[in-house]
Amino acid sequence: MTARAIEENESIEERNERLAGYISDLDLEGMSAPALLRWASEVFPGRAVLNTSFQYTGTAMIHMAMSQGLDLRFATLDTLRLHPETYAFIAEVQGRYGCEIEVIQPKRGDVQRMIERHGEYLFFDSKEKQEHCCQVRKDWPNNALLNTADCWISGQRWDQSEYRKETAKKAVLIGEYGTRRQILKLNPLVDWSEEQLMEYVEGHDVPVHPLYDQGYPSFGCIICATPVRPGEHKRAGRWRWFNERREDGDDPKECGLHYNI
Ligand code: SF4
Repeated sequence: MTARAIEENESIEERNERLAGYISDLDLEGMSAPALLRWASEVFPGRAVLNTSFQYTGTAMIHMAMSQGLDLRFATLDTLRLHPETYAFIAEVQGRYGCEIEVIQPKRGDVQRMIERHGEYLFFDSKEKQEHCCQVRKDWPNNALLNTADCWISGQRWDQSEYRKETAKKAVLIGEYGTRRQILKLNPLVDWSEEQLMEYVEGHDVPVHPLYDQGYPSFGCIICATPVRPGEHKRAGRWRWFNERREDGDDPKECGLHYNI
């Protein structure tokens, strides 16, 4: 019986148990990134999605997947506020690998209501309003994407931030928003160093997002993601106006997408 056939016949509880069994019975933490991607493509045909904002990690994993001929889905969240370079880069990556990248957008009505109530630039007002904006433009669309998947592949790495060092693992179960269903979240590159990642990108001629050359260490929406100056932490360019703030152990530079890892 194939993995898909099992999925169609099993209850939510049985599916949750199956996913938990993968973590307890297999050494997913010990698997290399290419091996973990291969495993995900075999166990979750059509139901494993690599969601990327086209940082080095995302394009490196797309390269790993395509060069192995894996059956993985690729997706990106289009907040409707991305840099023009990002929209062009989506087309470039699709052309280079001949793959489809699902572009997931927020519902226009949700965005409209938020803007009417709080204004276009609500993220300047407070951390809460910034999180609300990220919720509407990223979290809700991401939840809709995950509703179509059993395995979420992300590019988180330990050396991206202290918060991620403390929380991220290679494989973890998360609850699907609003249901009892569990989803297996994989971070295949979690233990990769910056040097290791750059070696892979350069060694395999992986496409590089053009904003890196303009001083952006990471990117997302216009205004909220900015270039960093020499000597600044690589996440300093995100929501600059919150740089001095840290409360309750949460990282003010996380948008909420990865809090539940
Ligand atoms: S990064 Fe900024 S504009 Fe983009 S969703 Fe978050 S708060 Fe809104």
